[in-house]
Amino acid sequence: MTIDTARLVAMFAAIANAMSADRDRLCALDGVIGDADHGIAMELGFSAARDAVAALDTAAADPTALLNTAAKSFLNAVGASSGPLYATALMRGAAAVKGKTTLDDAETVALFQAMAKGIQDRGKAEPGEKTMIDAWAPAAQAAGEALASGKGLAASLEAAAQAAKAGAEATKAMIATKGRASRLGERSLGHMDPGAASAVTVIEAMRVALTS
Ligand code: ADP
Ligand code: MG
Repeated sequence: MTIDTARLVAMFAAIANAMSADRDRLCALDGVIGDADHGIAMELGFSAARDAVAALDTAAADPTALLNTAAKSFLNAVGASSGPLYATALMRGAAAVKGKTTLDDAETVALFQAMAKGIQDRGKAEPGEKTMIDAWAPAAQAAGEALASGKGLAASLEAAAQAAKAGAEATKAMIATKGRASRLGERSLGHMDPGAASAVTVIEAMRVALTS
């Protein structure tokens, strides 16, 4: 599988679509343990990223330039805490593929892992704190392990999507200690973290867009 800039443009369109479709569910999840804006933030951010990368000349822009454009537009569009978290993810992704014009399987997995690491570095959340990291970190690990065991991009991202889903599910049993939901303490128990839920949707949209 070779990923070029046109494929990345299509990936942002797919994520934006998925966020629009998932917006109300994500707002409802955020309404339970946060301020009910997460679906709006994610839709706004990825719609802005989609529009910004669609306006680029894909013949001239390399993956790094494209991902940096997406990062900047995401950050400008989103006032919620997911703004800097995903902007950092995209900027780290951009840095991870610097100098490449197209991405092979290993480079695409490296981009994916750099996104997860960016969110972790920016938000300083550890697994178990009931954040989007509880979906992103196991997903990045699963993708890396699948690739290392000789699997291709499709199987690696399939493993990532499954791990993200299990990770998001596991946040129901966690008490939030980072972000807005941490104010609820034990009352955050029993509810899925909205950022982990949206991470599943982002990762699944990436998987489909990059491997079909
Ligand atoms: P806000 O809390 O500012 O309204 P959003 O509603 O867009 O922002 O996003 C909330 C989500 O952000 C949470 O569900 C959680 O997954 C994630 N989050 C919050 N703080 C952190 C952090 N420090 N690290 C990682 N993710 C975080
Ligand atoms: Mg919110």
